Amino acid sequence: MTDTHTMTQTIAPEFLVRAKTLLGPVGFIDTPADMENYLSDWRGRGNGEAPFIARPESVVQVSEFMALCAEYGVAVTPQGGNTGLVLGGLPHGEVLLSTKRLRAVRNIDPLNDSVTVEAGIILAELQEIVAKENRLFPLSLGAEGQAQIGGLISTNAGGVAVLKYGMMRDLVLGLEVVMPDGRIWNGLTGLRKDNTAYDLKQLFIGAEGTLGVITAATLKMMPRPAVKMVSWLCVESPAKAVELLALAKAETGGAVSSFELMPRIGVDFVLEQMPDTRDPHPDAKSPWYVLMEISFPREEGARDVLEGLLEKAMESEIVTDGVLAESETQAFEIWKIRETLPLAEKAFGKAVKHDVSVPVSSLPAFIEQANARVYAIVPNANIISFGHVGDGNMHYNVAPPEGVSDDEFYKAYGAELTKAVHDLVCDMNGSISAEHGIGTMKRDELAERVSDVEMDMLKAVKRALDPENRMNPNRVISI
Ligand code: FAD
Repeated sequence: MTDTHTMTQTIAPEFLVRAKTLLGPVGFIDTPADMENYLSDWRGRGNGEAPFIARPESVVQVSEFMALCAEYGVAVTPQGGNTGLVLGGLPHGEVLLSTKRLRAVRNIDPLNDSVTVEAGIILAELQEIVAKENRLFPLSLGAEGQAQIGGLISTNAGGVAVLKYGMMRDLVLGLEVVMPDGRIWNGLTGLRKDNTAYDLKQLFIGAEGTLGVITAATLKMMPRPAVKMVSWLCVESPAKAVELLALAKAETGGAVSSFELMPRIGVDFVLEQMPDTRDPHPDAKSPWYVLMEISFPREEGARDVLEGLLEKAMESEIVTDGVLAESETQAFEIWKIRETLPLAEKAFGKAVKHDVSVPVSSLPAFIEQANARVYAIVPNANIISFGHVGDGNMHYNVAPPEGVSDDEFYKAYGAELTKAVHDLVCDMNGSISAEHGIGTMKRDELAERVSDVEMDMLKAVKRALDPENRMNPNRVISI
């Protein structure tokens, strides 16, 4: 295997014939027009390349296909909804294995509060399936109309409700995985307690397709909150936002389900770029806004708790102004500002992006010091730092100054800006990939930043589970 982003592999004509026969006409795609969607990146950063696309219809077919790949030494890149942001699911010569057709709901067990679905179910579909049981599947993110369960597990996705419910890792009870040699591991236990030896499922969660193909998962269902209250609050600084979070947690008994911070420049981007969006509070222009959602198990008294909290926050000058959504439509409109921010940025052009986390208490210092470092490099850069303050996770993005093309900016300053921001993150004991993963984009940087002992363990796991390096090679780590 090569150590670059592009790999070459010889595909035997006999392998192609056998793969085509095994997968059938719907499961084997090799015409450029049909392959196009699978091979382009969401952010438009380069196209992938694959000899063909395999779309198996069942776990048995995934297993047979992976065994065939093993026989011919063929490397495979799994792909779900193709919304990943670190180029992990785009093939560079590997066969692309799409999980789109793995769509069965295998089991719903309300008494165990669990649901077992195949990897190709889309997150928004799962949320609906679970809602019919009067339960909640709490994972929620901007790409939920496209991202699939297998991809979400493979990236250990986060999103806007991590504060209350945790990341994908916290929602998985069991997994079914097809190993690189084609064997099926059935770990769909649905157990909350299981201390029999190593917790193998954890290896595949967040592995970005480098260890096996996730074909199904047993996931937790949560009680549906009786009422969700959304507010849009003006704060003077990230430090005030962190103070507000602490106050809100204490006053609501831990009922804060989302706590998102956005700068005015980000809100302006959305209002300019995205149709059907409107400023939730046009009379109050503030440097920063918090979108706070509180989920209460009962309706009685909920509004009093929230109003009491907001009163305290205003009295102590943590919050300067704000609105409380009075209807579902208004709540939807407020959420739309936050959810479409990545799309608005995309329309604006390529920013130098950082998906980082630091302890929540260090966030204000991080933003202040990162801004100082960035302005020292590009004095008039446009900084848009927004994200999941409740999780200490910021999307710290640096866009070019007026009049500078994004390509020019990226080439001239991309590496220097990223080094400056990531050095600071590491000094603060943070993470250079809070929720999007490593893929190929951060692979070399990961190798530079982790300790030798950590890299040895990572490589040992990879070699143990994928000794021939055929599962999504050259993503995350190179061996
Ligand atoms: P893909 O992009 O298809 O694949 C992602 C990785 O998983 C690849 O390495 C791929 O090889 C591997 N993979 C996919 N399926 C399997 C499988 N069945 N078995 C093994 N490996 C597999 N992420 C967050 O965490 N939080 C956010 O708030 C968030 N917001 C987003 C907003 C937008 C608008 C967009 C476009 C993306 C956002 N993301 C976010 C990133 C993205 O949605 C997640 O990474 C998501 O989990 C990817 O799921 P997918 O099905 O699209 O996976």
